[in-house]
Amino acid sequence: MSRRRTWTRACARTGCPERSHVEYTARRELAGIPTTWLCRKHDKPDENMTPDNREITTVLELHPRYTTRQRYDGTLGQYTNTPELLGLFWGPENDPARAFNGIVSGPGFGAEGGTFPPGTRLIVTARIELPTPVTEGAPC
Ligand SMILES: [Zn+2]
Repeated sequence: MSRRRTWTRACARTGCPERSHVEYTARRELAGIPTTWLCRKHDKPDENMTPDNREITTVLELHPRYTTRQRYDGTLGQYTNTPELLGLFWGPENDPARAFNGIVSGPGFGAEGGTFPPGTRLIVTARIELPTPVTEGAPC
């Protein structure tokens, strides 16, 4: 049995203390993993909540996705390609190419795409409420 090893990468942002730990057995397992990495805070700074950025709203839209089925049309005497609904998937507004999730969920909610009509918008808001007064020793 091969021994598991850990490869540690530092966030590429200068001065950031965050680290990523990747476990592997053989070096070939690391082949597709980028050597540079950004922590979540630096990769998606607009999504990072802080004492100064306490509310974020994200909107997803339900997009229909289709596949093509080849069917024999007896009237025409030939095969034709017919679009067929594959399903309804959540993704960014006006960007159906990036809609991949039939179900989305988070803390306290879940939404199955098949339950709603295409074009439905899912609006998720996260809001931080600080204690009053702010507790001493808080990192902010
Ligand atoms: Zn970082």
